[in-house]
Amino acid sequence: APSPKYITGDRAAINEFIDKFDTFLFDCDGVLWSGDHVFEGVPETIRMLKAKGKRTVFVTNNSTKSRQDYLKKLSNLHIPCEKEDVFGSSYSAAVYISRILKQPPGKNKVFVIGEAGVEAELAAEGIPCIGGTDEKFRRDMVPEDFQGLADGSLLDPEVGVVLCGLDFHINYLKLSTALHYLKKGAVFLATNTDSTLPMHHSFFMGAGSCMIPLEYASGQKPLELGKPSQAMMDAVEGKFQLDRSRTCMIGDRLNTDIRFGIEGKLGGTLHVLTGVHKKEDWDKEDAVAVPAYYADELSDLGLVA
Ligand code: PLP
Ligand code: CA
Repeated sequence: APSPKYITGDRAAINEFIDKFDTFLFDCDGVLWSGDHVFEGVPETIRMLKAKGKRTVFVTNNSTKSRQDYLKKLSNLHIPCEKEDVFGSSYSAAVYISRILKQPPGKNKVFVIGEAGVEAELAAEGIPCIGGTDEKFRRDMVPEDFQGLADGSLLDPEVGVVLCGLDFHINYLKLSTALHYLKKGAVFLATNTDSTLPMHHSFFMGAGSCMIPLEYASGQKPLELGKPSQAMMDAVEGKFQLDRSRTCMIGDRLNTDIRFGIEGKLGGTLHVLTGVHKKEDWDKEDAVAVPAYYADELSDLGLVA
């Protein structure tokens, strides 16, 4: 049976918890804020950890925004942060493409299903892309499109990668175009595979739910670059020179955040109950990850000596 340690209100347990780690990886939505509403006491908690010499890194699966966008959001909400401390799934994907995949010239264009955050991070890594927010792809298919995709005349021969994230303008033309690139051998990547997007106390279609039609149609599974993918953990470790045993992942979602920390063999994981999953979810048959610690909310860490 799962037995995570409950640290809310327990000063000794909180001190012990904080002392165990040098670096805290924070999931953002559901831990720091919900939408545009920052949870009470969060800026103070991050400031307290920094004052104790802890490294704080913000690791989000939200690919619609760039690191720059996140930096702006964090600073608007008075959470202390530098650009280097933000690690998003769109950045993770861009770094993977430019530094690990290293497509040959002439095959290095990326067909994007996604929003501006993906495009911005690809551009920052010097990777050309098409699709994405281009209005040319935001329309219904006409008979010429079916013909042009089938005979390849509508396809850019330099596309060697299909990258799928959350796209608020997903449509038949984009999905069919991506399918044709995959059939021609493009590498299939996903920024993240969150099934849902929590908003306004409800759930909307997540990036994973935009990607699944493509997986189904192509018969291929994408390589995921967001939590819980260890490709992302490796990139985070490389960038911040982490000692995994002295690092803790803090999140609200068991199948992304907590699993990310456990599979990455981090020293600890903390589940806060302000987001998607509740403690009832640990026991569910499909629970994929049980945290080492849990707390009602992040600011509970503020009860520190
Ligand atoms: N993807 C999108 C598009 C989002 O807007 C969000 C939350 O705002 C997420 C994923 C989940 O982000 P996080 O990993 O910070 O919880
Ligand atoms: Ca979250």
